[in-house]
Amino acid sequence: MSGTVHIVGGGLAGLSAALELAEAGRRVTIYEGGPALGGRARSYEDKQLGCRLDNGNHLLLSANETVFAYLDRIGARHTLVGPGAPIFPFHDLAAGLDWTVRLSPGRIPWWVFSNRRGVPGMRLKELGGLLKLMRARGDQTVSECLDPGALADRLMIPLAVSALNTRPEIASAALMGAVMRESMAKGGSACVPWFPAIGLSESLVDPATVRLQQLGVTIRTGARVAGLGLVHGRVGTMLLPEGRVELAPGDQMILAVPAHSARDVAAGVLPDMTAPTEYESILNLHYRADVLDRLTGDLARAGFAGVVGGMAEWVFVKPGILSVTVSAANHLADHSAAALAATIWREVRAVVSPALQPGTTLPDALPPHRVVREKRATFAATPAQDRLRPQCRTSVPNLVLAGDWTATGLPATIEGAMRSGLVAARALGPGSRPPLT
Ligand SMILES: Cc1cc2nc3c(=O)[nH]c(=O)nc-3n(C[C@H](O)[C@H](O)[C@H](O)COP(=O)(O)OP(=O)(O)OC[C@H]3O[C@@H](n4cnc5c(N)ncnc54)[C@H](O)[C@@H]3O)c2cc1C
Repeated sequence: MSGTVHIVGGGLAGLSAALELAEAGRRVTIYEGGPALGGRARSYEDKQLGCRLDNGNHLLLSANETVFAYLDRIGARHTLVGPGAPIFPFHDLAAGLDWTVRLSPGRIPWWVFSNRRGVPGMRLKELGGLLKLMRARGDQTVSECLDPGALADRLMIPLAVSALNTRPEIASAALMGAVMRESMAKGGSACVPWFPAIGLSESLVDPATVRLQQLGVTIRTGARVAGLGLVHGRVGTMLLPEGRVELAPGDQMILAVPAHSARDVAAGVLPDMTAPTEYESILNLHYRADVLDRLTGDLARAGFAGVVGGMAEWVFVKPGILSVTVSAANHLADHSAAALAATIWREVRAVVSPALQPGTTLPDALPPHRVVREKRATFAATPAQDRLRPQCRTSVPNLVLAGDWTATGLPATIEGAMRSGLVAARALGPGSRPPLT
């Protein structure tokens, strides 16, 4: 194949497609509408806090095979940090209780039988809920599969809300089941948590940019594509800021923009395309607090803790920053940033203080902070929205779709986004590797 592949959207789906194609010898141009690559996984300099921030805390698992293969291709695996073991510290705000789930490395979940490694208060009969989740189909929700109890409240619901970014009462059990089959069901060695040592851009975007440039990929930022046009049944034109541009006859296109944008851009060429229409937001609160050197125990080792019984869901400890994630946060849209910051700071103090070295404390007073709301963080992972996700191939022969919202079989995650990029690249035909199954 000799034509150029035009990749619209420079998020992780677009970058993963570009890498695959450029390594296979294809000519590639990326058109990114924003000022920088990375999309929903990016870092930036926050002048007010005087440090680098991620737009949102992102956690990867060792099960994310496509992500680790991508990191190896761009030489960036070493930029991730983590505890090196499948450990998940938790704090229950209402009970004032700390515990750490330590998954067994192999497939047999010995951890469930251990008071020291499991979930306090959990009953063995609750384990049936995990099997129900893994076998779930159709319209079942996460809540319908889980038996009420400590396993649900203190582990599975926190994991499901962060993996699906959707409340368990409406979240698709089938999507959660897919996550579990790829992680927990394979044992603890597939559940080792990892996150970027410095930032998302430093791990996932900047090294990819260098590699793509070495491979001769043209990268255009500030190049928002406003629409596409058909010529003889194929995508033949694209509307860029400088005007309408014609594609050469052998050219192909990967549309790797978010669902809402894809509907607009593709309206002229795929009028019947279905795509998710509902979104959930994610709230991140970054507090200026340097506690990394004063932490002890599992919070120090893991670098994060799950929080139960409050508004905060995960607290991440980073150099100079304590950072909190609240997923499925549409219900907090009316809360002011000031009120959220104050409430959640009280929760952070309750979670982090017990892990501080004796004689050190976190101040009562709210430290400098930043509240970041990602309004359309992911599509709402309900069964109905999942059914709207399109396959990568379209009715237009030289146009394929990519992005975390396409039919990846996973919720909207980095792994799903990157997988969709590979599937799209390989769907374009010879010159690429065999299709992913
Ligand atoms: C706060 C937050 C926390 C998250 N946490 C996790 C986590 O812990 N683990 C995990 O695996 N995933 C997490 N995710 C999800 C993950 O970030 C996304 O699934 C992934 O980044 C999506 O990549 P994408 O390439 O599909 O889409 P995007 O990142 O949205 O990329 C699409 C790109 O297209 C560009 N674009 C849009 N319209 C146009 C146009 N018309 N022309 C040109 N360019 C255009 C956009 O600017 C963007 O750069 C999180 C997401 C958020 C927001």
